[in-house]
Amino acid sequence: MSKYLGPSCRLCRREGLKLFLKGTRCQTEKCAFTRREFTPGQHGSKRTRAKLSDYGFQLREKQKVKRLYGVLERQFRRYFKLAEKSKAVTGEKLLQLLERRLDNVVFRLCIASSRQAARQLVKHNHIKVDNKRVNIPSYIVDEGDIIELTCKEALIKNIKQNFELIKDRGIPTWLELDSEHLKGKVIRLPAREDIGFPIQEKLIVELYSK
Ligand code: SF4
Repeated sequence: MSKYLGPSCRLCRREGLKLFLKGTRCQTEKCAFTRREFTPGQHGSKRTRAKLSDYGFQLREKQKVKRLYGVLERQFRRYFKLAEKSKAVTGEKLLQLLERRLDNVVFRLCIASSRQAARQLVKHNHIKVDNKRVNIPSYIVDEGDIIELTCKEALIKNIKQNFELIKDRGIPTWLELDSEHLKGKVIRLPAREDIGFPIQEKLIVELYSK
C-alpha cells in the first residue's frame, strides 16, 4: 500500500476531529478543522456520521488510529496480530504497541512538534536509544530505555527553541524528560489511560475479527 501524500488537514476533517498532524499549526486559528469542521468534498458539509453503518463506524475508528500514528494498513494489521497473540486485552495491547513506537515517543517527549517531524528525526539518524543510533521509526521502546538526541549543535538549538513552544503539551507520566539535555526515559510501559485520545479500540477489534 502506498504512502498518503495528500494534505494532512484533510485527514482530520475526514475523521471529524483534530489529529494534530501539523505540529504548532494545530494549536492556532489556522487549523483547517477549526475553520471547516465538516467532511472534505463537494457535499462534505451535508454528510453526517449518524448515517454510518456498524461497519462504517468500525472502519472510521481504524482509519482514525492509523492516521493518528501515521501507520499504513499492512503495519497496522501486523500490530493487531501481535496484540491478538499476547495475553493482554487485544485492543489495549494494540494501542500500547502503537504508543511505544520510537517516533511516537520522540513526539510525546516534546522533542518534535508532530509525529511526522519525529519520524524525520529518527530516519535521519538523530536519535539514540540506550546509546545506539536507531533510525527505525517503528522501533518499539521498552521499560528503562533512554532516548536522546545525537545531532549537530545547530539542530539541537533549533529543537530546543521548538521545545519551548510545545512543552505545554506536557509529558505523559510513563515517560520522563531531562529538559536541559532533551534526554528522555521510559519509566514504565504505557497503560490504556495514558493514551489520552478518544479511541474506541473495541470497534477496531470487531472489524478485524470478522
Ligand atoms: Fe489537523 Fe493540525 Fe491540520 Fe488542524 S492544523 S486540521 S489539527 S493537521
